Amino acid sequence: MAGAKPTEQSRHMDRARYTAFAFTAADILLELDAAAVIRFAAGPTVDLIGREPDHLVGTPLFDLIAAEDKDYSRRLLDAVTDSDRADMMLIRIGDRRGRKIRFVMSARRVPEFGDRLFLALSRAKPNAAGDLARAAERDPESGLLVRDAFVAIAGEKLRTGSALGNPCRMTLLGFDGIDRLRGHYGDDGVGTVLAELGAALRARSIDGDSVGHLGADVYGVIHARDLGLDGVRRWLETQSRPLARGEPVTVRSVSFELNPGGLSEADAIRALAYTIDQFSAADGTLRLGSLVESHQAMLDATLGRMSDFRSAVSAGSFQVVFQPIVDLNSLEVHHHEALARFADHEAAGSADAMITFAEEIGMIAEFDLAMCRRVAMAMAAHGGGVGAPMVAVNLSARSLMSFHFMARLRAYLADLPAPVRQALMFELTETYDLADLDAANAVLQQLRAAGHLICLDDFGVGATNLDYLRQLEVDFVKIDGAYVQSAREGGRGAAFMKGLARLCADLGLRTVAEMVEDQTTADLLRAAGIGYGQGFLFGRPELELPRP
Ligand code: C2E
Ligand code: CA
Ligand code: CA
Repeated sequence: MAGAKPTEQSRHMDRARYTAFAFTAADILLELDAAAVIRFAAGPTVDLIGREPDHLVGTPLFDLIAAEDKDYSRRLLDAVTDSDRADMMLIRIGDRRGRKIRFVMSARRVPEFGDRLFLALSRAKPNAAGDLARAAERDPESGLLVRDAFVAIAGEKLRTGSALGNPCRMTLLGFDGIDRLRGHYGDDGVGTVLAELGAALRARSIDGDSVGHLGADVYGVIHARDLGLDGVRRWLETQSRPLARGEPVTVRSVSFELNPGGLSEADAIRALAYTIDQFSAADGTLRLGSLVESHQAMLDATLGRMSDFRSAVSAGSFQVVFQPIVDLNSLEVHHHEALARFADHEAAGSADAMITFAEEIGMIAEFDLAMCRRVAMAMAAHGGGVGAPMVAVNLSARSLMSFHFMARLRAYLADLPAPVRQALMFELTETYDLADLDAANAVLQQLRAAGHLICLDDFGVGATNLDYLRQLEVDFVKIDGAYVQSAREGGRGAAFMKGLARLCADLGLRTVAEMVEDQTTADLLRAAGIGYGQGFLFGRPELELPRP
């Protein structure tokens, strides 16, 4: 009798058994109808999201899912077919107290149940990268991570993945030609393709959420070591083909392991950020194959340059030269500017390339501190610092805004003999990076209170505008060489110089003009009311600091 025909009871047992199996892999089971309304719910939903399973029935799934995950999960669920399931989507569901609980969700169809969709949700295990991702800033349009958040998560993965002996990979994808598509089809058509792409990338990424939208058409994905993204690349190329009338979008990509190699973690993270920026800045003239190699080479070269720079800084194997800043009326030297020279660097030892590199890679603060040490030593060599000539050291805005660096700098300055300390000035450079002028001013005032004169460098360049003069209380303003040149050419340049000199005088600021190469320029600047000059006319940068 038994076994011939399933009884109600045995059928019930089967269902219970299947459900039990399902719960070995999931916390919550949901069944959706064609309109994505929940038709069946089971599991500890009260504990996890504060709702009874019965109350979930009749609720549209997307009412539960957090705003930033709606679009992406909808796209992935729409793509689930009888043969193609979706796995490991990361989604957030709001509970009754407004907290967002993270789940890993899988979806599949079963042919016998027609248009029903079956979902299994498991509570995502908390991890540090996940916490970062949860708090991270997102691009409002794509819902993907912004560059800084992406770098932070990559850094976290680099730390933990290598510690566990299981490094992830990072792949950067750049789509060239999307702008052309926008021209043809408007933002909406292109937006749809990009949203699909974002969803596809998230589904392939670690934690379902490690995708960054890094530049206009540049994306980054952190993924498992063995996952190929070729499929994504091919998919986008096909997607774009009909749109572009036979001119598909070209995709360039580069992939590397998140592994600190021989570097400290902090340096490896800087190298990573630098490589991301280089990739984002590169244009479509680079093609796939060569780029993969050239970016790996670029990363290697970056690492090499970093360790060169680091050893130059720690061994002190760079030189310091001093260039006079002269009173345009009395022709007396007021102070010197300290400039760095790197011995085995091409371009006649010019500091520019090295300094720019150090800025971009985030090593400038260490370098600025090393410069201070070297300059203070040179000053102290002059009779124990008594009557030491005044020297201005360049201080990058990035260093100024690093709390950690400023604490070290202040501690270092406090230990200097008073005459050396008081003869040390600072030139604030690279100020276009300053986001918060009030905060910058507060730090500057601490330095001034300790007896240091401050010069605002590069005035007139980029964003260094009148707002800086209004909000930063300094002693000197150095007018950029480009303005000096245009003043020499007469007309508006000269009028501008005069107006600037007047404004600075009214604000109680002294003015320095740089790149003064001939007497005519010096005369013109003096007549315009500029107080000080620097340039080859008065002296080239020299190794020796003249004795007072
Ligand atoms: P800057 O601070 O504007 O420095 C002035 C640059 O102009 C120096 O180039 C100097 O050698 C050059 N110069 C001086 N007088 C004349 C002139 O009459 N004509 C011409 N054509 N050039 C003149 P340098 O040393 O190559 O420095 C380039 C930049 O690198 C500096 O611009 C500064 O932003 C940065 N830098 C140099 N040393 C340091 C440093 O120790 N720390 C930091 N943070 N930045 C530095
Ligand atoms: Ca300077
Ligand atoms: Ca300058």
